[in-house]
Amino acid sequence: MQMKPEENLLTNAREPVAVPWKLWLQDFPCDLCGFKEEEFLCTVPGTLTKYPFRLVRCRSCGLLYLNPRLNGDAIRELYDRDYYNGKGFDTHVNYIDDLLQSNENSKVTRPKETVRIISELKPPPSTHLDFGCGVGDLLRQSVRQGYESEGYEISQFARHFASQHGFTVYGDLREIPSEQYDIVTAIEVLEHCSSPLEALRAIYQALKPGGVVFYTTCNFDGYYEQFRKGGKDSIRNAYVKPEGHIHFFSSAVMELYFKKVGFSQSFAFEPRHYVKEGRLFDLLARMHLVGKGSSPERTIQKAAYYGSRRLAIMLGIRKSSLPLAQK
Ligand SMILES: [Zn+2]
Repeated sequence: MQMKPEENLLTNAREPVAVPWKLWLQDFPCDLCGFKEEEFLCTVPGTLTKYPFRLVRCRSCGLLYLNPRLNGDAIRELYDRDYYNGKGFDTHVNYIDDLLQSNENSKVTRPKETVRIISELKPPPSTHLDFGCGVGDLLRQSVRQGYESEGYEISQFARHFASQHGFTVYGDLREIPSEQYDIVTAIEVLEHCSSPLEALRAIYQALKPGGVVFYTTCNFDGYYEQFRKGGKDSIRNAYVKPEGHIHFFSSAVMELYFKKVGFSQSFAFEPRHYVKEGRLFDLLARMHLVGKGSSPERTIQKAAYYGSRRLAIMLGIRKSSLPLAQK
C-alpha cells in the first residue's frame, strides 16, 4: 500500500529537539510602542515548562503580553510535529487529526467558515496569502473556492507538510512578494507572534493597495477593567497559554498597531455568515430558532440569530469582532 505523504511524516519519528528554555527566557519592551514600564497583572504557569509566566500590561499603550517570554528562536522550536499533533503547549489543537479525518469544521480553524467570511470582503478569484498557514488547512479550502492562495509559516514541519500538498509556502518574511495579495488572512496567529508589529508590517507590505487583512484572535476589550475589579474571565484567562500565546489585543491596541504600520483605514466588520458560537448557538438551537446548518436560512432564523447576537454584544456576554484594516 502506498503511504500518503502525511502518514509518512507522522510515522517517521525524528529526534526530539531539546529546548534549553530557561536560557531562552528574555525580557522585552512593549512590541507596539517600545515602552519598558509595565504593570504586573498575574502569573500563568507554562504548559510545557510550568514556569510562572508574568502577564503584564504596557503602561503606555495598554498592550497585554507575557514578560519575560521565550525568545524568537525558542518560539520557532515550539511548532514541531508534536504541536501539530496536539502534544504541544496548546493541547486543545490537533491540526493533523482534523486534516486526516477531513474534519473541515475543526473547532479551532473552521476553514470553511473562514473562506465564507473572507469572500464577503474579497470574493474569489482574488489573490490570497494565509499568514501563519500551519499545515495548510485554510489553503485547501480557499483554493477549492477559487482563490489563488499561498502561505507563510515559520514552522518547518508545517511548511514541509503544506508544501508536500502542492502549496507555495514561504518560510522567511523577506521571501513574501510585495503588493501581491488582495487579502491576507492571519487566523489565530497574532497572539503567537514574537513581534506582532513585524508581522503586521509584513502583511501590509504583501497587500496590494486597497487590500484587506482579515485576522482572528481573542478580543481582550474590557479585560483589564474587569481584572482591576477582581472579576474573573475564564474564557480569556484560558486563552493566555504560555509558552506560545504571548500577546493579547483590544480594539484600541489594534487601532494603534494599524496606525503605526500605515494602513489607510480600519473598519468594523461583523460577517453575515456566522460561526456556531458556543452557548448562544446552543441556546438558539435548543429553541429551534437556528438550524444545524452553517448559516441561517429563513428570515425568522436570521432575525433570531442576528438579533440575539447583537443583544449578547450589548449585554457584554459576547465581544464584537476586533477591527480589520485596509491598505
Ligand atoms: Zn506599549
